[in-house]
Amino acid sequence: MSLPLRAMATMITDECINCGACEPECPNEAIYQGGVEYVALDGTKHPALSKDFFYIVPEKCTECVGFFDQEACAAVCPVDCCIPDPERIESEDALAVRAKQIHPEKDFSGELPSRFRKVADAGAAATAGASAAASGDAISGTIQMAMPVMSAEDALAAKFPLQDDWEVPLTCFRCTGRFAVPLLYLRPGTVLHCPHCGGSYVPNTQLYQSVQQRVTTFFDAWGTSFDDLRERRRRELDRFENDLVEAFEKARTEIDKLTAKPELPGAPTRQRGIFG
Ligand code: SF4
Ligand code: SF4
Repeated sequence: MSLPLRAMATMITDECINCGACEPECPNEAIYQGGVEYVALDGTKHPALSKDFFYIVPEKCTECVGFFDQEACAAVCPVDCCIPDPERIESEDALAVRAKQIHPEKDFSGELPSRFRKVADAGAAATAGASAAASGDAISGTIQMAMPVMSAEDALAAKFPLQDDWEVPLTCFRCTGRFAVPLLYLRPGTVLHCPHCGGSYVPNTQLYQSVQQRVTTFFDAWGTSFDDLRERRRRELDRFENDLVEAFEKARTEIDKLTAKPELPGAPTRQRGIFG
């Protein structure tokens, strides 16, 4: 039995750095700049829902159901502050109906793109994989090795940011508040906004180059170290696999010999007659 998928309208938290990347991505024009009044579905204008940060009008947000298999705003947000709003739980069906109401001109026939369907598909694939393993289909005369989802090296590397995503802490020269932006957005001339006082902050070339150089030094050094580690682990795994296969074949051969002896316990005992 599958449960109905529950969805939540998307919201923007106060970690927003007002970069504006999300606004043009929204298929429903549900995102507005802080302080700018919004237009409701009936065409009426309303005061801004946030003075300081970009905000989402919940009644216009469909979590991108009907358009994409992920929330477009969250996909481009450099600080991951477009998140599901736990106060506004809606069904996927309701979001699909809303998409159709907002876009009466659009043909929504067929299966609608939806991040929830993607999640459901992934879950079904995982269940099917588990069923196949449980059915014993995987058992054969050779060793079946479980495929790790992610290697230990990759899992370790995933704990650290990619070069462009490196969070660079900055200090607002107006209010001295601290905030951070991904390195990608530290380009000279980019206008950032302090989340504390709203003032603009434009990184200069010297700051960008010195931070970029330090980050590059880190990645150059540790990238090589990871490659060395992977190579060592690959050789070690190869040796381990050879030893394992050898031990497995030896055990199988011995078990073949053991079970081939008819006098072993378990063989049916022949009843002797009175003449032997
Ligand atoms: S989730 Fe999609 S529909 Fe909702 S605000 Fe973000 S981009 Fe717009
Ligand atoms: S920080 Fe995220 S939510 Fe804020 S404007 Fe940029 S993309 Fe939009």
